[in-house]
Amino acid sequence: MSKRIWVAALVALVLVGAGAAALVLLKGQRCPDGEARTEPKIVDPGDAGGPPSDAIVLFDGRDLLEWENGENWPVRNGVATVGVGKGGITTRRAFGDCQLHIEWATPPVVSGSGQERGNSGIYLQERYEIQVLDSYQNSTYPDGQAAAIYSQWPPLVNASRKPGEWQTFDIVFEAPRFDGAGKLTRPAYITLLHNGLVVHNHREILGPTSWSLSPGYKPHPPRQKLHIQDHGCPVRYRNIWIREL
Ligand code: MG
Repeated sequence: MSKRIWVAALVALVLVGAGAAALVLLKGQRCPDGEARTEPKIVDPGDAGGPPSDAIVLFDGRDLLEWENGENWPVRNGVATVGVGKGGITTRRAFGDCQLHIEWATPPVVSGSGQERGNSGIYLQERYEIQVLDSYQNSTYPDGQAAAIYSQWPPLVNASRKPGEWQTFDIVFEAPRFDGAGKLTRPAYITLLHNGLVVHNHREILGPTSWSLSPGYKPHPPRQKLHIQDHGCPVRYRNIWIREL
């Protein structure tokens, strides 16, 4: 074969290749792993703070019907307050991997100090606690302050607002995985934004919350309920929604 034919064949090959690549790009199907990509579902993000259109609204200011023991927490003016001495509230539904938005405020009038000041808590899967506390100019042990993974990890920074002011937690939670024999195959991970600041970045949860060292994971079903703690302080809550991932 002459040199000219070789060059022509090479040029033709390059053109065909480029054409095919352009077609794939145009169709939006670049797939380095060979798997087809599906178009993401459209979700209306809603107003700032949500809820987005695909969220399960757990509290919109009206009632606590989504919660067991909700009848024991007073709801007034769009706000639910911990029913002090009446126990925590627990969702009727169970969740695995999820995105959770929750707004909370500790009492505007400060009483007590350390762990006795605006204490509550968000228990993911009923056992992994994110601490709710008035941590504005209120020192306590670092892994017990607001936004700590209680008794495990302090937040990266203290992003607390003043007592009485509304604060947000935006949580991305990956539930732990267990195999058929109940052995942990992947721990839980959490990313948490406190008032919009990242305070845990894909942090590994070491096991269920305990006041001292975690006893380590015990197997549980992939979906578990969400619990909010009554720790004897009238902490307020509003705008709670969750998205299953
Ligand atoms: Mg607590």
